[in-house]
Amino acid sequence: MCGIVGYIGEQASAPILVQGLKRLEYRGYDSAGIVVLDNGDFLRVRRQGNLANLHEAIDFSALPATMGSGHTRWATHGGPSEANAHPHYDCAGKIAIVHNGIIENFHHLRADLIERGHEFLSETDTEVLAHLIEESYTGDLQAAVRDAMAVVDGSYALAVLSTGSPREIIGARCNSPLILGIDADGFFVASDIPA
Ligand code: GLU
Repeated sequence: MCGIVGYIGEQASAPILVQGLKRLEYRGYDSAGIVVLDNGDFLRVRRQGNLANLHEAIDFSALPATMGSGHTRWATHGGPSEANAHPHYDCAGKIAIVHNGIIENFHHLRADLIERGHEFLSETDTEVLAHLIEESYTGDLQAAVRDAMAVVDGSYALAVLSTGSPREIIGARCNSPLILGIDADGFFVASDIPA
């Protein structure tokens, strides 16, 4: 088990994401990361080990962005490492995904994607999702996530951001919980209610 959290609203997202991940620590993890979308660019920080390592690595004053996602990972495919920590990107670094769960048919999907020219930077099952969404994305992120998930077998809760859709986070789930939250100035998505 592990955790995902996403935020889009009016407040700086990085402190909210890290706080959310802390509230999901009870689920266990081996690494953690966040990404925020700031003026059309992703800024990502990932660390192996304790959330304190991630917290120390983040310069919160340099991350005013008001949307982003975060992840605590419990490795299922690919060992615990910074390269395998989420969020993961597509080839162009324009799609960012955090994922809980297992993609059962990822070997076959990954081989097909490599044949079509995609470059993988991690050993995770999750990274295939970023590349599948990259192939489907033509400006409608929700449609691209739907298309991608149509060829995937397994269990997942995920949150997807795209530099091309700067005020949108798409969540999806199958056999894993995903909670949506709303408050006066923001929207949340998370693996569990405490976050
Ligand atoms: N299967 C994914 C991985 O190994 C996600 C694991 C998790 O749920 O943390 O990166």
